[in-house]
Amino acid sequence: MPRLYDSRKRVLVTGGAGFLGSHLTDRLLERGYEVLCADNLFTGTKRNLEHLHGHPRFEFLRHDVTFPLYVEVDEIYNLACPASPIHYQHDPVQTTKTSVHGAINMLGLAKRLGCRILQASTSEVYGDPSVHPQIEAYWGNVNPIGPRSCYDEGKRCAETLFFDYHRQHSLNIKVARIFNTYGPRMHPADGRVVSNFIIQALKGEGITIYGDGSQTRSFCYVDDLVDGLIRLMESPDDVTGPINLGNPVEFTMKQLAELIIAETGSSSALVTRPLPQDDPKQRKPDITLAATKLNWSPKVSLKDGLKPTAAYFRANLPA
Ligand code: NAD
Ligand code: UDP
Ligand code: UDP
Repeated sequence: MPRLYDSRKRVLVTGGAGFLGSHLTDRLLERGYEVLCADNLFTGTKRNLEHLHGHPRFEFLRHDVTFPLYVEVDEIYNLACPASPIHYQHDPVQTTKTSVHGAINMLGLAKRLGCRILQASTSEVYGDPSVHPQIEAYWGNVNPIGPRSCYDEGKRCAETLFFDYHRQHSLNIKVARIFNTYGPRMHPADGRVVSNFIIQALKGEGITIYGDGSQTRSFCYVDDLVDGLIRLMESPDDVTGPINLGNPVEFTMKQLAELIIAETGSSSALVTRPLPQDDPKQRKPDITLAATKLNWSPKVSLKDGLKPTAAYFRANLPA
C-alpha cells in the first residue's frame, strides 16, 4: 500500500510484552521506528511496556497470534511463545498451537504485505545435542513425545514453515536460533535458572541445583541478543539463517550458582533437586556464522550481565 504521510519504518513485534520482546521494542523505538506490539499477555505483562505509555510511535494490541491478524507493517519480529519450561509445559497443546498456527498467521501476513519476517527460534531445536558446540548444520536430537516436545517440535515446525514460505512464496525470512538469554524483566516465576538462582540468593533460600549441576548452558545478556536480532533483520536478503545467537562461554549450573552467590553477597547454600526429564546435558553455540554474516558477537560477560539483572530482581523481589 502506498504511504501517504511519512516514511518511518513500522515494525510488528509479536510477544512484545515479554522479556525479549519488550527490550527489542525499546531498541526499535530508539532507532526511530514505529512499533506495534501484539501480545496476549499469557507470560508477558503490560508492566514491561509501562514506560512507553503515551509514546507517540508505540502501540499495544492485545492479540493471540493463533488468530489471524490484519495490520499494515514493514517488518515482523515473531517472538510470541511461552519460553520457559514451566510456562510452555503449563498448556502444551496451546504452546504447539502458538508456534505453528502463530507462524502460519504471521507468515500469511508477511506474504500479503511482501515484508520481511524474523522468527525467534531456539537452541532447543538441537534437543539434547550430541554435537558440541552446536553448529547450524546439526539437525538435533529431539524427543518428539516428551514433556519438552510441545516447545521443541513446535519451534522446529515453525522453522519448516518459514523455509517453505521462503521457497514456495519467495518470502524474505530470517530465522534466529536463540540460546539461553537473561536480563532485567525476566518473569520472576518462570523457573528459568538465572532468575531462580538470583531470587533464591537474594532471599537467602537454598539454591536449587537440578541433578548434580554438571549440565552446561551458555548465557547471553539481553542487550547483546537484541543487537543480534536487529542485525539479522537488517542483513542482506540472502542471509536467511538459521543462525545461532548466543554467548559461547559455557558454564555448569554449579558454576552459575557460585557466581550468583558471589555477585549478590548471599549466604545461601546449594540444595539438590531431581533433574527434569529430557534436560539437555550441554549447550553452547558455535557463532561463526553470526560473526561472519552479521559481524556480531556478544560483548557482555556473564559476570557483568548478572549485575543489572540482580539489581532488577532486588528492586522487584517477589513475596
Ligand atoms: P516471554 O515468555 O517473556 O515472552 C513471550 C511473550 O509471548 C509473552 O509476552 C507472552 O505473553 C507472549 N505470548 C505467548 N503466547 C502468545 C500468543 N498465543 N499470542 C500472542 N502472544 C503470546 O519469553 P522470552 O524469553 O521473551 O521469549 C521470547 C521469544 O524468544 C520466544 O519465542 C522464545 O521461544 C524465544 N527464545 C527465548 C530464549 C530465552 O532464553 N529468553 C531462548 C530461545 C528462544
Ligand atoms: N493471515 C493473517 N493476516 C494476513 C493474511 C493472512 O493473519 O494479512 C493468516 C490467515 O489466517 C491465513 C494464514 O495467515 O490462513 C496463512 O495465509 P496464506 O496466505 O499463506 O494462506 P491461505 O490464506 O491460503 O490459507
Ligand atoms: N536448573 C537448575 N535449577 C533451577 C532451574 C533450572 O539447576 O532452579 C537447570 C535446568 O535443569 C537446566 C538449566 O538449569 O539444566 C537451564 O534451565 P532453564 O529452565 O533456565 O533453561 P533450558 O533448560 O530451557 O535451557
